[in-house]
Amino acid sequence: MRATDPIIYNLEQALAEGACPVCHCLATATTRSLTNLLYEFVNDPLTRDRLRASGGFCRDHSWALQQMGDPLAHSIIYADLIGGFCAGLQELAASRNGRSSFPAEMEQPCPVCREESETQKRYVEGLLAAVHESNFREKYRKQGFLCRPHFRAVYSQARSNEVRSFLAEVQLERLSHLNSELKEFIRKSDYRYAGELPGTERDAWIRAVRFWVGASDLKINK
Ligand SMILES: [Zn+2]
Ligand SMILES: [Zn+2]
Repeated sequence: MRATDPIIYNLEQALAEGACPVCHCLATATTRSLTNLLYEFVNDPLTRDRLRASGGFCRDHSWALQQMGDPLAHSIIYADLIGGFCAGLQELAASRNGRSSFPAEMEQPCPVCREESETQKRYVEGLLAAVHESNFREKYRKQGFLCRPHFRAVYSQARSNEVRSFLAEVQLERLSHLNSELKEFIRKSDYRYAGELPGTERDAWIRAVRFWVGASDLKINK
């Protein structure tokens, strides 16, 4: 994988945004695929069939899609899903052997989750390839900060000790900074220091959540 690879290019752009670069690239890819899906639902009955087979999207992606608007596409999707659900329920209610479980196809994973896990794999591998490029490595040293789930994924897949210790060094530096901001926030909440103006620590608590579970609040331009 070369530095000109689009994966590496996207990671480089994401570094400048300050969030976990893998989270950022995933959010961009997911926003794009949700936009495409909304278009396909209206125009392609096959996409709707596939969605019915998976029982729709998971909770997070259903709401992410809802936040994107498009009442017409949603009406088409949900009229379809609800129609399928009603047919299944009628069949179930009419069955004489007292079946109470829905067909297994309703339990299939959300198609966007499936796509996200593929994309994540590509970005984790891309990042590990990119840290061998001196340009990328310099940028990562200055701005790199992975969320905990993505750090664990990247770190455990690194094949050399040198890369592992580079990743750990950068990550520990960012985390010690974040931790001191959290402590600064706690200190200033003490009434004795209530007069001190808030500094960069004021949103450290949000960044701490973002680090711990990964970012789901990134603003991506469509
Ligand atoms: Zn992340
Ligand atoms: Zn999902």
